Amino acid sequence: FFISLEGGEGAGKSTQLRHLSEALKADGLSVCQTREPGGTPGAEALRRQLLFGEEALSWKAEVMTHMAARCDHLDHQILPALAAGHVVVCDRFHDSTWAYQGYGIGCGEADKLSFIRSLRQLVGHEPDLTFWLDVPLEVAQHRVAQRQGPTDRYEGQAEAFHQRVREGFSQAYQQQTDRMIRVDAARSEEEVHHALYELVKERLSA
Ligand code: C5P
Repeated sequence: FFISLEGGEGAGKSTQLRHLSEALKADGLSVCQTREPGGTPGAEALRRQLLFGEEALSWKAEVMTHMAARCDHLDHQILPALAAGHVVVCDRFHDSTWAYQGYGIGCGEADKLSFIRSLRQLVGHEPDLTFWLDVPLEVAQHRVAQRQGPTDRYEGQAEAFHQRVREGFSQAYQQQTDRMIRVDAARSEEEVHHALYELVKERLSA
């Protein structure tokens, strides 16, 4: 069973990913906890280039690098884990490319969205379940402001960028049927965790 967590900066994805993995492990499931871009040595090397590389790539090259990292991650980590019967919980997946490269950077231009859509089809492997942790921009900004550590290429973007990213997730959400669930992530850590856990248990037993 393959679960992805999606959302903008400050949505609480990483924290929720950790809580969810621990809760599922406590239930006796074997869990593979991973993230994108990255998750394997090869894909982590691409992550460093994407987020902290001195030279920014052209838009198409950036999208293809995200996809290349995803292929390595799928082939070397996600697919073997699924084949071994593990629950895979992944911090970001295809929908982040749609939201960040399609809307954040690509501004939702039709030719860019169709480029991403085509590559996404080629790469394949949609999650069984995706949570979109959605928070208003003000809440997200407040959370990010409390954070420490190095800032990557995208975090320092203007508010309009993050607004477009949110719109991208919203578009992804409206386009699908029952793969993606929107979760109000402005609530407390405990409340969000409880919501995610209950929804996963429901789907796992369906
Ligand atoms: O999830 P996390 O915050 O670790 O993501 C790392 C960075 O990569 C974020 O700044 C995010 O905006 C960026 N990103 C991106 N395009 C993707 C996935 C992540 O710009 N497809």
